[in-house]
This record gives sequence, structure tokens and C-alpha cells, in this order.
Amino acid sequence: MEARTRNLNQHDIPVQVVLFGGGIAGLWLLDELTSRGYSALLLEARGLGSGQTIASQGIIHGGLKYTLQGMLTRSAAEIREMPGIWKACLAGTRTPDLSPTPLRSEFCYLWRTESLRSRLGMIGARAGLRVAPTSLDETERPDVLQHCPGTVARLDEQVLSPAGLMESFLKQHRDRLLKIDAEKGLEFDLSASGEITRIRLTEEQTDSQLNLVPEQVVFTAGKGNIHLRQRCGLSTTVGQTRPLHMVVVRGNLPWLNGHCVDGAKTRVTISSEQTSDGQTLWQLGGQIAELGVNMSREEVLAFAAVELKAAIPGLDLNDTEWSSYRVDRAEPVTGDGKRPDHAFFLRDDNIWTAWPTKLALAPQLADHLLTALSPLLTANQPIDGADLLTRWPRPPIADYPWETEADWTNYSQLTTINTRRAA
Ligand SMILES: Cc1cc2nc3c(=O)[nH]c(=O)nc-3n(C[C@H](O)[C@H](O)[C@H](O)COP(=O)(O)OP(=O)(O)OC[C@H]3O[C@@H](n4cnc5c(N)ncnc54)[C@H](O)[C@@H]3O)c2cc1C
Repeated sequence: MEARTRNLNQHDIPVQVVLFGGGIAGLWLLDELTSRGYSALLLEARGLGSGQTIASQGIIHGGLKYTLQGMLTRSAAEIREMPGIWKACLAGTRTPDLSPTPLRSEFCYLWRTESLRSRLGMIGARAGLRVAPTSLDETERPDVLQHCPGTVARLDEQVLSPAGLMESFLKQHRDRLLKIDAEKGLEFDLSASGEITRIRLTEEQTDSQLNLVPEQVVFTAGKGNIHLRQRCGLSTTVGQTRPLHMVVVRGNLPWLNGHCVDGAKTRVTISSEQTSDGQTLWQLGGQIAELGVNMSREEVLAFAAVELKAAIPGLDLNDTEWSSYRVDRAEPVTGDGKRPDHAFFLRDDNIWTAWPTKLALAPQLADHLLTALSPLLTANQPIDGADLLTRWPRPPIADYPWETEADWTNYSQLTTINTRRAA
């Protein structure tokens, strides 16, 4: 075992693991560490889930994308196991106990557009999945997909509410979550070899100070990992970001969660959330969000309206309002800029940098990190300095990106834009 000797000052608080970033990666690992008796604290700069987790569609993927591409790689084999793990957590029969998390749906629909390419995709989708799609007959189809050509299938991938997920973790770990000012209120003491020996925190409003003395430090700050690494003098070329331009539609829409598949691509992925005034809101991901990156808001909304009509024939979009948000996926660098397909971490002395690359892969990341970290941690120790910690501010839960959005466009305006373009 690699034991670490620590010189403590009077106000130092020894902690076995300090995590930076309260998205799904940090929160899942925090739960796993503390349920094994290790002392751990998580520092969050904004709200829990800010960045990707709150902006995600909440789908617990089981490898469909890989099988659509005709591959059954190691990564596909690992992601296949994720829906089962999440299902047990969401049922409260495994830790983390996520049973209070509201589900958007127990399953996703899978359907296709009419092209030959998309027919082949559906065939590919049947291979190799733990949660293989089951074809629905006409009577089992939801009304909204009645006019879709060809097969409509059901895929047992759960869809959860990201805000509810963050709330579940906040309730269980409130005492271990600290809100920090990552710019003005954070300093690192580094040893000559580059190890973090002390994390100095200051809190302006209450004029409080905390010195955390960690054995190990894990960066699970999504896009923020790179900046944290830079502050510790570490290479910044290990991460990449992939931008997305997500479209949201709200109004009198049916509840729908699923993927419209076109060949090896998901033409659009739809997830449903209820707004605070009781409307249904659809998040539109998949190709719309990827192709929309280089489009203005007006362009991406107009494009999405055409795509949605093509993906769901007969859909009534009158009286809907449309908006969009931009968000970056933060991931390990792949060299070719393509998306990585497995959870990833790397170690620099006592600093660990981690990206799950998918919400669904958080259990895999935590499992791999625990295996690597556990032999380095001393015997389980409670945190000394609880009084100082009790008074420290806690992070809130991040808002959904559309909750703070004031700029909404009526569907009738989008049809005018599309008619003008076509003329
Ligand atoms: C639009 C979109 C849709 C997606 N849909 C899905 C899906 O349906 N299914 C799926 O499996 N995956 C999905 N993903 C991917 C998934 O959301 C991410 O892989 C996952 O949420 C990443 O979690 P994370 O904890 O690593 O990072 P994040 O969720 O980005 O969290 C990082 C946290 O670190 C904090 N932070 C940043 N800097 C600092 C700092 N210096 N100090 C302290 N804290 C800091 C941030 O405020 C934030 O709370 C989607 C991603 C996007 C963008």
C-alpha cells in the first residue's frame, strides 16, 4: 500500500478523497466511496449537474448505438450491463439508492423513417443487446407514432429526470457537498513532485476558511477538468469537447421518449419533461443537435421543425413554442475528434482526472476508479473538523437550460421561415 504522510496544521482537515465537480461522475463515486466507509468530500463550483448532466436527455443507454454500427466491441459489451445496474439503483435494491428519482419513462420507443438505410438499421439493432427492441403491433403503438412507416419497437432503456437524479444525491450526501468559488476561493498547495498536499478554500459571504488535506484528489468536473489540470501544472491536451445545439419544443405535446433511427444514425432522439406550468417539453437530440452546431438559433429551429415532421408523420405542432441551447460534451481526447465509447480516467501522482463520457457509464467509471484508488487509501477514517464543515454553504441543483431561457419562437414563425427558404 502507498501510504501518504501528511504534515497537519491546526486548521487542517484530513480527508481521504476530495472530488471536484458534482455531476453524475462525482456524485456516483462519492456515494461508492462513502458507502465503503472512506471519508470523502465533493466540491462544486456552481449547481449540481451544471454542464452536461442537467442538460442530458437522461436515457440509460444499453449499447444500441454500437450495434447499429455493426460492432460488438468491448465497450459495447460493458455498456450492455449498465441498464441492469441503474435499474437496481432506481428500484432501491443497490447503492447508490436512486429510488426517489422520478422516471421520464421505463422504456424508449424506436422507430424508423422510410428510407432503405433506416430499415437496415432496425435489423442491426436486434443483434447483441441485453435490452433488445421488441416490435409492437399496430394496437400497441402510441397514438403519436400511428402514422410511422414500418416497425415501431419498444426498447427497455429507462429514461430518468436529471434534476430528480441530482436531488436524490443531494438528499443523501448534503453533509459532504461543499459549494466553492473555484476562481477566487480556491488554492492548491503542490509538492515538488506535483502532488496536491492541501486545498485552501475561502468563502466570502461568511468569511470562512477551510484547509482540506487530501490523500487523493479526483477531478470529475466535466469541461472544468482541463482548467483544474492547468492550475496544477498538468497537461491540458488529454480532454476534448464536442459541441451540441439542442432544440426544445414545448406545448400540448404527447409524452414521448425514444429514437427515430435512420441507418446507423439516430436522426432524432426525443425525451419528455414536464415544465413548471404543466406543459410537455421535448428535448431534441441525435443528429439534429450535431448538425445544428454550425447553425444559428433561427436556422436550427427551422431545420428541427422539418426533421420532426419527417420523423413523426402527422404530428400536430401548432401552438408549440421552440427554443434551443448550446452545450459541450466533455470527454477524453480520442485523436480523431470522434466520440469515445467508454469511461476514462488517468492518474498524475495523487490527482485523478475522470470523464464517464455518458451518464449511463457512471457506474463503470466509479467501479474502475474504486479498484484503482482503494489500495492507496489508508484505513477508513472519519472526517475530523465536522463543525467547520457544517457551517459551509451547500450547492443548489442546477436549473434545466430551458428554465432560464426567455427567447421562444412560435411554430407558425418557423413555418414562415421554411416557406420563405423553399421559395
Ligand atoms: C445534450 C446532452 C445530452 C446527453 N444525453 C445523454 C443521455 O441521454 N444518456 C447518457 O448516457 N449520456 C448523455 N449525455 C452525456 C452525459 O450527460 C455526460 O457524459 C455526463 O453527464 C457527464 O457527467 P460529468 O459528471 O462528468 O460532468 P458534468 O455533468 O458536466 O458535471 C461537471 C460538474 O463539475 C462542476 N465544475 C466545473 N468546474 C469545476 C471546478 N473547477 N470546481 C468544482 N466544480 C466544477 C460543474 O459545475 C458541474 O456541476 C448527454 C450529454 C449532453 C450534453
